[in-house]
Amino acid sequence: MGEDLESLFYKVVDYLDGRDSNVEKVLVEEKPVAAKEPVTKADVFGRNAIPLGISNRHIHLSQVDIDCLFGPGYRFNQLKELSQKGQFAYKECVTIAGPKGVIERVRILGPSRSHTQVEILRSDCFKMGIDAPLRLSGDIEHTPGCTVIGPVGSIQLNKGCIVAKRHIHMNPSDAKHFGVEDKQVVSLEIPGERGGIIHNVIVRVNDNFSLECHLDTEEANALGVTAHNKLRIIK
Ligand SMILES: [Zn+2]
Repeated sequence: MGEDLESLFYKVVDYLDGRDSNVEKVLVEEKPVAAKEPVTKADVFGRNAIPLGISNRHIHLSQVDIDCLFGPGYRFNQLKELSQKGQFAYKECVTIAGPKGVIERVRILGPSRSHTQVEILRSDCFKMGIDAPLRLSGDIEHTPGCTVIGPVGSIQLNKGCIVAKRHIHMNPSDAKHFGVEDKQVVSLEIPGERGGIIHNVIVRVNDNFSLECHLDTEEANALGVTAHNKLRIIK
C-alpha cells in the first residue's frame, strides 16, 4: 500500500508540474513580454507568490557509497525528474539505521554527490536515536552519521545526517524580482486554516534553480499546506 500511495503522490506531482508549465507556456504565448526581462515563475504566480515543494526523507549518495551499496557500475532507474534542473528521484531505495531504530524505503535522489547526505525528519531522529541538526543541504560538518543498507552491502557513515533547513530556491532574475539576495533570511506567509507566518527561511540563489520553497513533510503537515499552495514572501 505504501508503494501505491507513493506512486499516486508522484502522479499528483507530475500533474502539477505539467499544469504549472502549461500555465507558463500560455502566458508566454498570449502575453509576450515587451520588456527585456525574462518571464519567471514569479510573474506567473503573481507578485510575491512562491510555489511550494514538499520533501520527504531522502538520501544523496557519493559514487563510492553507491558502489558499496549497489555494486560497482550500478545504474539507477529514474523514477521522476525533480523540479530543480538535473535532479532526479530514483526507483531504488535504501534502509537507514541508528542505535534505536531503522527506517526502510528511503528514496535516493541523484545525481551522485561528493559526500553522502541523509535528509531525515525530526521524528525520524527520535526513531533512529540520532540527533541530526537543522542544516542547509551540503553543510554536513559535525553532524551524526548512521548505517545505510543497500541490496549488496552496507556502509557506516561518520557524518551526513541532517534535518533540512527550510529554504527558497530562485534564479538571479527571481531574486531581482523579489528584491532579495543569496543567503538572505525572509519570512513566509502560509495560507489556510492551519496557516501562519514562518521565519528563518533562507533564500538560495543560483542560475540553475527554479523558484520553489522547500519544506519537509512535517513542516508542511503542521501548517496544513500541500504542493497546491502558494506562499508569500514577507521581508
Ligand atoms: Zn531545496
